[in-house]
Amino acid sequence: MKQYWDIKSVHQDKILLFRMGDFFEMFFDDAVKAAPVLGIALTQRNKKSQDETPMCGMPHHSIAGPINKLLSHGFKIAICDQLEDPKLAKGIVKRGVTRVLTPGMVYDSDTLDGTKAHYLVSVDSESISFLDSTTGEAFFFKSKKTQDLLRFLQILPVAEIVIAQADEALLGGLQNLLVSHHEELKDSAHDLLKNGAPQTAARLLSYVTALSGEEALATLSPFVERDLEHRLDVSSTTLRHLEIFSTYKGEGLGSLFHAINRTQTSAGSRLLRQWLSFPLRDPKAIENRLSSVEFWRSHVLELKRVRQILGQMGDIERRLGKISQPQCNGRDLLALAGSVHAGISALEVLLHTSGGTANFEPLRNLAYKIERTLVEDPPLATKQGYLIRTGVSSELDELIELSTNAQAMVARMEAEEKEKTGISSLKIRYNNVFGYYIEITNTHKDKAPANYQRKQTLTNAERYCTDELVELERKVLSANTKRADLEFEFFEALRKEILAQCPALLTLAHECSEVDVISSLAWLSLEEKYVRPQFTNDGSLKLKASRHPVVEQTVKSQFVANDIELRPHSCLLLTGPNMAGKSTLMRQVALMSIMAQMGSFVPCDEAHLPLFDSIFTRIGASDQLSEGLSTFMVEMIETSAMLKNATKDSLVILDEVGRGTSTFDGMCLAQSILEHLLSDVKALTFFATHYHELTSLDQSFSQITNAHMTVAERNGEIRFLHTLVKGPALKSYGVQVAELAGLPATVTKRAKGLLREIESKRVQASSQLSLLDQLSSIPVYEEMAAPVPSVDPETLRREETLKSLMDEVQKY
Ligand code: ADP
Repeated sequence: MKQYWDIKSVHQDKILLFRMGDFFEMFFDDAVKAAPVLGIALTQRNKKSQDETPMCGMPHHSIAGPINKLLSHGFKIAICDQLEDPKLAKGIVKRGVTRVLTPGMVYDSDTLDGTKAHYLVSVDSESISFLDSTTGEAFFFKSKKTQDLLRFLQILPVAEIVIAQADEALLGGLQNLLVSHHEELKDSAHDLLKNGAPQTAARLLSYVTALSGEEALATLSPFVERDLEHRLDVSSTTLRHLEIFSTYKGEGLGSLFHAINRTQTSAGSRLLRQWLSFPLRDPKAIENRLSSVEFWRSHVLELKRVRQILGQMGDIERRLGKISQPQCNGRDLLALAGSVHAGISALEVLLHTSGGTANFEPLRNLAYKIERTLVEDPPLATKQGYLIRTGVSSELDELIELSTNAQAMVARMEAEEKEKTGISSLKIRYNNVFGYYIEITNTHKDKAPANYQRKQTLTNAERYCTDELVELERKVLSANTKRADLEFEFFEALRKEILAQCPALLTLAHECSEVDVISSLAWLSLEEKYVRPQFTNDGSLKLKASRHPVVEQTVKSQFVANDIELRPHSCLLLTGPNMAGKSTLMRQVALMSIMAQMGSFVPCDEAHLPLFDSIFTRIGASDQLSEGLSTFMVEMIETSAMLKNATKDSLVILDEVGRGTSTFDGMCLAQSILEHLLSDVKALTFFATHYHELTSLDQSFSQITNAHMTVAERNGEIRFLHTLVKGPALKSYGVQVAELAGLPATVTKRAKGLLREIESKRVQASSQLSLLDQLSSIPVYEEMAAPVPSVDPETLRREETLKSLMDEVQKY
């Protein structure tokens, strides 16, 4: 325990895994915290004595799963191993911490979601850097605006933030982040700074070196700068509203990513995720991607072939990450070789089809060498031999022969001893404590010859040794040890050779990921009948038979495609009942724009889209409720960010804004927001509202096109046709929708009655103009109103409002 405390005192903030024989044990608080997370029993050492100690443990060969579980719960871990062979140790076995792990540093990437990156992130007031130690990916963004930098924390999958204490204030109110401090930079990081990388990149590199040693740097790609400009700006709120990566419920299924992901490799999935997080704005870059998609579409046979090959390719990046760690095994190396072959074949299909060339010789040779060196099905252990093929080295071949022969010699001796003693059940066995021994059951023990020296007595048998057996044991063990040592040397040499080729291997991996994403987009477009989008120069939008990429895949042929057309900088004002499909229509425009600017074909018969600079959405109730903000407050915060940041080149989508407050407040806000968007921001706007009163704004703003989703009504029953038509909706059908939802008939009947009552009061009120007086408090910006000859706009508004109210009342 003294040894334990000496080590634990240096790693107080971590869970210490303390190797004892075949187990890794945890003690005291560590055990109390870890046991419930791992679902293992918490036991007591020295039970009922004064030093009763809570403990729990796991077998040394199966710690990968538990370690990742602990990391994903935000714990840090120190692995304390036995540093010498217990058999040779004098006194207490020497122990020391061999690895430190934090949530951003993974022990075994096989247990991670392959489609997601796993980033360590560092941020200060000038830059933000990302590093995925499992794939080697490393990049940074620079900006003087902290807000711009922090946004990435919500867009990209962050496992851990590494920061200097002084910069912690930058993170402000951001929650649910796991923060680690790292102050002093290591030497290797200083070199990076000299080469122009920002401080945050140096901090990450230094952190990784401090935890995993210099060797971990072998598989890291150099840090590259990614630019903030030339990207379609999609805020994390918008990504959430549009359910790009997960639904409101937090599920992957039902998200855009899930619906359009046809990649065949995990690395391809990760790249698609990245493309979807950062759609482009540079028309050349977008057209390049679209043309590549087009290329595969016009070579369907090759497309099928390349997808089939990619389907057999493993994850080179993550496999390399594992190989950079000493605990990797022969199977990792062989898996890498297989992936290299598949990757090269995939690129060859591309080059063959497009007429290019490349030299894959060095990587092919590396893969062959791995396969020629390792046996077909190597054991998980690397230090016990049996993993290198014969023929690799003559010295090893000799040892292999000797160790195999030695075993044959043991078998021969066993046969001879049986013969000599006449005991057919006599056995020669081996165990770690006694080495080789002869075992005779009690029935025959009287027949044991005089040269048998007793070693151990069991209940039903006796164990002996002889001088010859001791001699044989010496030979066998020395051959085995030498063999194991030499095999491990060859294994390590091979591992180093692979790591030396890291840059070429990573390039191969990146090229394959790109082929995977592009060919998967081609496949998607063929499967789902998507078209190549075209970008308009004047800001107009015209979609023929457009569909929602996610809803369409659920309802299949039931989906009603819609034509949508908008003049530059104009607004589609959508009214009509709930469930009619307003949200779906608006979302599909946003999703289509993101897909188009990412370089994907889109769900349409024909698509002409502006090249947006940003997309803003204000849709539905937000999940920020848990952070203590009311629905209405969240709605207004988001709307405010939208009004401040949207430009004439943006796409703006507002669904039921103002709904969270009283009717009149809400309506006034909705109108003033809409007016501001039309006259100041001039973004292309989709505006869905319950407030029918707003539909008459088209009189004052020529940019407004009223539209609604059609509903068919027969004998008081309604059916949604999901078809977009011009003109404002005539009815809300609120009670009918409630009926459809199965509200008890007594309730809906009562609601209808109440409605009639209120409407009749409304008629009385409006005849006294009192309601109108209230409505007149809604300001109309006269200078912005479209000129209506010889009629005072105020009067016009009053009359319009009255008329529409009367219309509505009559319909009920
Ligand atoms: P609203 O926003 O008008 O309340 P939604 O857009 O939420 O309505 O649509 C309600 C339901 O109608 C959705 O769940 C969707 O499945 C279905 N729907 C919407 N648009 C279509 C369409 N064009 N074709 C088929 N079904 C649709």
